[in-house]
Amino acid sequence: MRYRELGKTGLKISELGFGTIPILSGRVPVLPEYFSPDTQTAVAIMKQAFDHGCNFFDTAILEEYGDAEIKLGEFIKTVDRGRLVISDKARFYDGAQIYREVLRSAEHLGTAPDIYFVHQVDESNVDEVFAKGGALDALYDLKREGKIGFTGIASHYYNVLYRAALDERVDVLQGSGNILERGMLDRIRAEEAFRGKGFILNKVYAAGLLIGPFSPAELIGGVLEYPFSSALLGIGTFEQEEEAFGREYPVLHFSFEEVLDRLRGDFEPIGCDRCERCACPYGHEIHTTLRQFNYFCLGKEYWAINKLKMDLENTYEHCCACTDRVCMKDCTRHLYIPEEIARVQRLLNSFGK
Ligand code: SF4
Ligand code: SF4
Repeated sequence: MRYRELGKTGLKISELGFGTIPILSGRVPVLPEYFSPDTQTAVAIMKQAFDHGCNFFDTAILEEYGDAEIKLGEFIKTVDRGRLVISDKARFYDGAQIYREVLRSAEHLGTAPDIYFVHQVDESNVDEVFAKGGALDALYDLKREGKIGFTGIASHYYNVLYRAALDERVDVLQGSGNILERGMLDRIRAEEAFRGKGFILNKVYAAGLLIGPFSPAELIGGVLEYPFSSALLGIGTFEQEEEAFGREYPVLHFSFEEVLDRLRGDFEPIGCDRCERCACPYGHEIHTTLRQFNYFCLGKEYWAINKLKMDLENTYEHCCACTDRVCMKDCTRHLYIPEEIARVQRLLNSFGK
């Protein structure tokens, strides 16, 4: 296992980290399959990862990741705490609420988390999170009180991460990306403001969807060139652990066209890399709609279809009538966005029949 600096925290964490969603039990709205191992098995899987050199484990509160936080707490008791870096997160945007959640998490973990993230920060809550008395202020207070090690912001949105990168209260960022959805990673790599922060990468396997067209070795090797501190891999079985942490992967480079070529077969993927430059004055989240098309075609119909239905009718109508098409101005992939939206609409229509 190789290790990387976690921004300016002084910590070194394993290049690959343990994502705890697949070890959870309980009914929670997370996408990837999980395996519900009992606590003893889950602890043994985490111990095997630790023995392979993984020192970074990430979880979230019970309402988000079921009992994963409790299982992680049981694992922590079995090893030298000083050799671990533990991150946790909660979807609370108000200072008082997240303060309370951190104390609850510490009880479940049996220790103070090294990093605590405000989770799922987006346009609808970002001002509250960063405002005086918001969640970030609360984490900053908790850090000064010694109740957490470092503060974090987790988001799927580049603009949120960029704002966090400029904020001195933030130590660590968490964002998503993989060899297909690499647009945000390319922007982060090019932007100096991110250099001083730790960066945790998730969705390396795209919730498992890219496994098949690509091997885990290719998906891991393909992101190693990016400047993250640790890439989280969701682990739920001993076999997955062995595959992820049992060897050192070489750095690979796939051009974006190579990735699309590999996906071509049963469908023609939309060639969006999810750079999130397509701002729409009507507020349509184009990059998410285009991603859902690819996810749907890669086999996540049951999940993608609900998200597609949410806003597609409106988006399609607006795109048909739109004459300025400002969303296309900065699209580095030069996509003709209204046409791509029409493709998504046709898919949704055919699925309904
Ligand atoms: S074509 Fe117009 S309505 Fe459609 S996403 Fe682009 S800017 Fe928005
Ligand atoms: S549609 Fe273009 S601008 Fe928007 S996320 Fe995809 S590649 Fe980027």
